[in-house]
This record gives sequence, structure tokens and C-alpha cells, in this order.
Amino acid sequence: MVVDTDDLLTSFDRKQNAFNVNPVADLHTHTLASDGTLSASDLVALAVRYGVNLLALTDHDELDGCREAATVAQSHGIAFINGVEISVTWQARTIHIVGLNVDTTSLPLQQGLAKNRTFRDWRAEEMGRRLAKQGIVGGYEAAAAMAMGRIVSRTHFAKFLVSGGYASDLREVFKHYLKPNKPGYVAGEWATLEAAVGWIREADGIAVIAHPARYNLSATKLRLLLQQFIAAGGEAIEVVSSSHNSDDILHFADVAKRYQLLASVGSDFHDPNYHWNGMGRLPPLPATCEPIWSRW
Ligand code: AMP
Ligand code: MN
Ligand code: MN
Ligand code: MN
Repeated sequence: MVVDTDDLLTSFDRKQNAFNVNPVADLHTHTLASDGTLSASDLVALAVRYGVNLLALTDHDELDGCREAATVAQSHGIAFINGVEISVTWQARTIHIVGLNVDTTSLPLQQGLAKNRTFRDWRAEEMGRRLAKQGIVGGYEAAAAMAMGRIVSRTHFAKFLVSGGYASDLREVFKHYLKPNKPGYVAGEWATLEAAVGWIREADGIAVIAHPARYNLSATKLRLLLQQFIAAGGEAIEVVSSSHNSDDILHFADVAKRYQLLASVGSDFHDPNYHWNGMGRLPPLPATCEPIWSRW
């Protein structure tokens, strides 16, 4: 069968894919196009195996895998959503904004992501230089080789450092080398919150605050983030995430309700061998939430 992939990349087909019952949704995943370890085809196949029937691919600052994932998802008969996870610098910290159901042909979105990737390239070289000052040489070259011409992530540096014996696992290596104030960390000059949400809206997508519990924001800062996000046109927040415990889920379900935000669900899947692998095994959205897929 010949599949018209351009057709697949247009917005989600409401009639064909409307869900009568709650879908098994996973709206936050990664592939080799960013810092995941699977190809788009393998990601979709794994999602199918885990029972996911509504899947979004959300690579960091990159839309490249969406076309392949959409084609493969169609052949497996599951619903697929084009997505992206945009790095944002907000109040001197990095926040991740997921864009869902974006038109991947949107120029403002493509150009915005290209700008983030330019910063990423420079940052990777700078990380290499800073690690070299600590006597750790070859980090940039190793990370870039691992990335195989795609975006270079801190995850690639983390794997290089673990393989060099500098730390026992990814979590440790982030803690000692790759977090703010650590030798390999380079502060962000990512997109602004307003720009990232704007690109997503121009691409007819829905902007989602990713894994909000991971930022450790005070109540005041969280309120400010939500206000600015909504003012910019943001409409959703991840309530269920592999980064969230049951208290976080209840807390962000409450936040979603109070701020009238749609609720999203995502494993943040990167690697079948890593413990963040919650694909198909995420807890359900609390009943008070309005699921983001109600818009599709
Ligand atoms: P970057 O966008 O290049 O700054 O890299 C951020 C990525 O690093 C995240 O998307 C995660 O995949 C990964 N990451 C961040 N913190 C940790 C951690 N503590 N343990 C493992 N991976 C992490
Ligand atoms: Mn990642
Ligand atoms: Mn993230
Ligand atoms: Mn992610």
C-alpha cells in the first residue's frame, strides 16, 4: 500500500480517531532524533506492544522523526500525534514546553527550533571545553559521534562520562557534572517562553508544560510560570508523567483544574533499558482532569 505521508502530517483526523473510551495515551516520547535510543519505527512498535493506542513523538527541538513515526503508527492502526519538546529559558532556569498536534511544515516552528539547535551546537562545544578544563578530554567528540549528526544532548555527554568511569550511572553523572553549578553545565540561552508557545500556536498545536514537578518551583514561581504561560497562549500541563509520584499527580491535577488547563499524559520515554521507561504503564488521569485528547 502506498501511504501518502503528507496526508498523515496534517492535523489529527477527528472522525477516524475519536475515542469512545479513554485511550492508552503516551504523549511524551523520544527517539534517536534527539536523546532517545530507538528509531521512530522501533519506538512505535514498542508503544504498540505496551498497548499504547494514542502516541505522540516529542523529540527535543526536533521534528525529524514524526514523518516515519506517523507512517508506522498508521500501519499498526494506532493514533499518532506530531509533537516536539522545546527547551525554554525562563527566570534563569530551563523549562520544557511540549507542543502537541503541531503542523510540522510550519515555518515559524521550524525556524524557532533551528535557532534552539544552533545554541545546542555551540553549547555542546562549550561543554567539551569546560570538561577539558577539568581534565576530561574528548567529551564533545564522543557526544557528537554518539548523536550521529543529530542534536547533541547532555544525555550524550552523560553516557560518555559513565563509560569513562566518572560516575556509576546517568543520575549520578548529571548530579556531579551536568547540572547547574557543576563543571560541565552551560547555562541556557534557549527560546523564551513566549516565543516557544508562539511557535506552537502558529503551527496550530497545543502548548503543554512538561513534567512540572521536575523544576522544584516554589508556589510563587509556579504561579508566575502558569500566568505567563497562559498569557502567551499555553493551554495544557502534564499531570501524569514518569517524573511524577502520586502526590505530584494530585497536585498538578488540582493546578490544571484551577487554571483551566487541559491535562496531558507522557512517559518521557527515552530508552527501553532505563528506569524512566513508563510506557503503557502510567497511572490514569484523575477524573477531575479534562484530557488533552478531548480536543482531538
Ligand atoms: P539537554 O536538553 O541537552 O539539556 O538534556 C536534557 C536531557 O537530559 C533531559 O531531556 C533528560 O533526557 C536528560 N536528563 C536530565 N536530567 C537527568 C537525570 N538526572 N538523569 C538522567 N537523565 C537526565
Ligand atoms: Mn531527554
Ligand atoms: Mn523534558
Ligand atoms: Mn522529554
